[in-house]
Amino acid sequence: MNYVVSNKYKSQNFDNRTKNTKIKYIIIHYTETKNLTEAIKLLSSSKRKVSCHYIIDTKGKIYNLVQENKRAWHAGISSWSGDLNLNNRSIGVELVNKGELSKNNYKVKQIDSLIKLIIDLKQKYFIKDWDILGHSDIAPERKIDPGIFFPWEKLSNYSIGLWYNLDKESLKESLDKGLEKIQLIDLYSCLKQIGYSKINLKKKNGLNLLIINSFHRHYIPKLLGKKPTVESLIVARNLLKIKKNHIDFSFK
Ligand SMILES: [Zn+2]
Repeated sequence: MNYVVSNKYKSQNFDNRTKNTKIKYIIIHYTETKNLTEAIKLLSSSKRKVSCHYIIDTKGKIYNLVQENKRAWHAGISSWSGDLNLNNRSIGVELVNKGELSKNNYKVKQIDSLIKLIIDLKQKYFIKDWDILGHSDIAPERKIDPGIFFPWEKLSNYSIGLWYNLDKESLKESLDKGLEKIQLIDLYSCLKQIGYSKINLKKKNGLNLLIINSFHRHYIPKLLGKKPTVESLIVARNLLKIKKNHIDFSFK
């Protein structure tokens, strides 16, 4: 470990993890606060009943608020790949940031510390690249953090999170074309297999739109709030292919 973790602040907002459940996920959040002090106040307030395991300030300093073997309350009602209520199986990391709506970029030092922390946690708990997710991925109907300014692509260079790798051939297609019905179903199916398990394959509904928004927010921010396009489908297919290849490889 080549970084320091401060134990200056602690939160009592935690309980026991269900017995014999392994830690499988890392969930990334932003605090939506002006600074660390405000965030600590919220994450340790007995009234709010929220917390996280780690919080990283804008200078890159890492603080541990809840022991990893305890269940911190950061994810709320959530789902991924058939797993429900992800607090039980995850480590929650908060980044001090004012939020997507304030157009607040993350600081380089803060992201560097996050990368070091996650590399460590990944090794410790054998967490898969694609099981490192944003709050918005696992709770698309309620949450937008860590938002469009979170550098998922940069993190993917450190095997953190799932990312796509498109060849020039696939980019030749007219990317901003809307989707035919059959292509839309294909997109839904890819998203479901990637992990957005609540998507409805049979019909368009409000939740599907929120899930597509969440997918765009994470992978194609320029399409946020817009209808899915051929690019959405190509990216989703590519992500699924990469995830499947990794899984096949790890079983060999
Ligand atoms: Zn969150």
